[in-house]
Amino acid sequence: MVSYSFEPTLEFARKLDQEDGLSHFRHEFYLKADSIYMDGNSLGLLSKRAEKTLLESVDDWKELGIDGWTQGNHPWFYMSERLGEMMAPLVGASSEEVIVTGSTTVNLHQLVATFYKPEGTRTKILADELTFPSDIYALQSQLRIRDYDPDTHLIRVKSRDGRFLEEDDIIAAMTDDIALIILPTVLYRSGQVLDMKRLTEEANKRGILIGFDGCHSVGSIPHSFSGWGVDFAYWCNYKHLNGGPGCVGGLYVNRKHFGAHPGLAGWFGSKKDKQFDMEHTLTPSETAGAYQIGTPHVLSLAPLIGSLEIFAEAGIENIRQKSLHINQYLMDLIEHELADMDFTIGNPRDDVRRGGHVSLEHDEAARICKSLKENGVIPDFRAPNIIRLAPVALYSSYEEVWKVVQNLKKIMTEKQYEKLRSPSI
Ligand SMILES: *Cc1c(COP(=O)(O)O)cnc(C)c1O
Repeated sequence: MVSYSFEPTLEFARKLDQEDGLSHFRHEFYLKADSIYMDGNSLGLLSKRAEKTLLESVDDWKELGIDGWTQGNHPWFYMSERLGEMMAPLVGASSEEVIVTGSTTVNLHQLVATFYKPEGTRTKILADELTFPSDIYALQSQLRIRDYDPDTHLIRVKSRDGRFLEEDDIIAAMTDDIALIILPTVLYRSGQVLDMKRLTEEANKRGILIGFDGCHSVGSIPHSFSGWGVDFAYWCNYKHLNGGPGCVGGLYVNRKHFGAHPGLAGWFGSKKDKQFDMEHTLTPSETAGAYQIGTPHVLSLAPLIGSLEIFAEAGIENIRQKSLHINQYLMDLIEHELADMDFTIGNPRDDVRRGGHVSLEHDEAARICKSLKENGVIPDFRAPNIIRLAPVALYSSYEEVWKVVQNLKKIMTEKQYEKLRSPSI
């Protein structure tokens, strides 16, 4: 556990801010003076550097027209590869193993279309019952395309308590009939980090391919996808990576799979120097670039260049340390200030098992979230009873966290939420 001597005072929060080695990054972000943003795990905030690289790309379009593909500030033709290189340290892979392309769900489709190879009795896909719905829809449709019944062929590991998954249960489900495993790195509700290293070792041992959805971990915790032997992964860049709404996603493919023909092929998966030969036979790139499909969404890639510079400067290990610390501080305050108010901390408490947000459960979560918003705090509600609060290492302060908990205390003691109707979402 993170160790420090907790004190519940505002002075102590300010002291933690003074000691925070990442605090200067806060000034790089557009923060609102009258509100506290606790939703960076859902949509990260805009930084000045992300804005700058976006505007530079708009300028290239303005000044260069078609020549922006190969000239200008950030030549568009190489942008996905360049970003893959910048992203690689965040996922623990080599530059060639990472490409910034598509979106989370589209990349999952691509990777399943490429790596799901049912054979003999090994035909099923293993996932879990707590994962994000879009992943499940994608897997169900991929099974239907191949004429398999999702009811029998998509196996979902059960949670024992509705919050967490046990690695032992997942490993027990890695049976001879499983062809492919898709799991989240961090569960989106409870914030549990799965033991990716152990799960990958067990899958590798059994000859089952394993891929991870990194939406809630990339940019928040370090990874060693390549070192662990993970076969592939995919993630979004608009949550912890602050790339902007609908920002282009990322994918990783272990180099041992280079050369695997893309399941969903398109001309941007070509070897770069062959693409404009315009042949009707695809010569795929010999890198993760092979899994691109069509023309990149340049203006939705551009902010990531600036954003990833910040991550490179801050260092993902430092980001993880502050994230653990500020989330611990939030939990300590909750326990100290909100005792006997029927809150339950629904995320794991061990450092190795918790991600970048606190999952606070309460029967009145919906109305409490609405009250928080009225008090200038932006939380994130997940039905039926979860208030997700994400103090983000790069731009949240300890003083803000202190204020969030004071707001919660006031809302509860004054029963402010009782005056509100339940919001529909
Ligand atoms: C946010 C999120 C998604 C979203 O997928 P998109 O295709 O980007 O809409 C998928 N999976 C998880 C785990 C997420 O947290």
